[in-house]
Amino acid sequence: MAEHAFLAPSSAHRWVRCALSASLEAAYPETEASPASMEGTAAHWVVQECLYRRPPEIGMQAPNGVAVDAQMLEAAEIVSDDIRAALGPNWAQMLVVEQRVVIPRIHAQNWGTPDYRAWSRLGDGRLMLHAWDFKYGKGIVEVFENWQLIDYVAGCLGEAKIDGFGEQNTVVDMRLIQPRAFHRDGVVRSWKVLASDLRAQWNRLEMAADDATSAQPTCSPDPVACKHCRARHACEGLQRAAYSAADKGSQRGALDLPPHALGLELRTLKRDAALLDARISGLEAEADARIKAGQRVPFWTRESELGRLSWTRPAPEVLALGQMMGVDLAQPVEPITPTQAKTKLRAAKLPDTLIDAYANRPTSAAKLVPDDGIKARLTFASSVA
Ligand code: SF4
Repeated sequence: MAEHAFLAPSSAHRWVRCALSASLEAAYPETEASPASMEGTAAHWVVQECLYRRPPEIGMQAPNGVAVDAQMLEAAEIVSDDIRAALGPNWAQMLVVEQRVVIPRIHAQNWGTPDYRAWSRLGDGRLMLHAWDFKYGKGIVEVFENWQLIDYVAGCLGEAKIDGFGEQNTVVDMRLIQPRAFHRDGVVRSWKVLASDLRAQWNRLEMAADDATSAQPTCSPDPVACKHCRARHACEGLQRAAYSAADKGSQRGALDLPPHALGLELRTLKRDAALLDARISGLEAEADARIKAGQRVPFWTRESELGRLSWTRPAPEVLALGQMMGVDLAQPVEPITPTQAKTKLRAAKLPDTLIDAYANRPTSAAKLVPDDGIKARLTFASSVA
């Protein structure tokens, strides 16, 4: 079995929207891992080591050479705490850590590695599948209708030989842990449904997978799909969509728009802007890589920017210099963040409730956000409690 699936669950959010993306991305494989993805790989290793009760020390190198830092250890603690809270004292025997699952229900070329998964039994006798996805990046990922988790769940149910009847009596708790991205629902977010409630999404995945593996997959430029598509610099469909978006600027429009036209135009232009951004960032990355490789790309060049002025001598030497000159060069002492403080207290087995009396989360001014119907779907989603 190849290292990466042609239809990887981690890019299911893309190929379910644009079937062509699977083959086009395969034609442009990642040549070198970005610093962010190296950091993510190292953080996953730290979590795994902590779950196996071999916590690495700060400064130690992960297998990919990235140094372990305090943030990675804090993230591992958040993951471990959530797993323990969900599974109870026997969590270690129940937990499956980073093991591949095949997903033939969707397609023979669809498999992947869920971060952590486990089965338990609820008080009323129903089975419960717990599926965790740990994201170390800072870009917000939603757990509700998360295609990667939906795809993994299909694989886990198949692996456990749960049939259609069993799906109606199986609760699925999909959990997304994102310690470094602020989200109003917290760093751990959960979407709990009856397994049978996911059938419509599995059908969509299955149809998209058939399309993606057909002789002529459908190309559907879409802001979410194109944003990080590896082929966005080479995709004719996105190029045309971006040109058409740019062309709209020269069209005349009504000046005083009625509410429906206003909402529609704003939504369309936002979508067009996202497609243009995807195309531009893809071309930028490609031009940068070509110039780095020695090719000439007309109108563009690479240059280094000056970084921030930073000390080249150890801190005690700098502080001693300040003392000698009668100037205090030390930074004022600052407390760690309330979230970090709570993590520390929990680690020391102390109650973290006192922190709430010393900290709050101010509400920001209300701003315009797209209404994509998610709130309504959440309200009407079936209860599994
Ligand atoms: S760039 Fe967009 S339209 Fe083109 S293959 Fe990728 S996801 Fe599809």
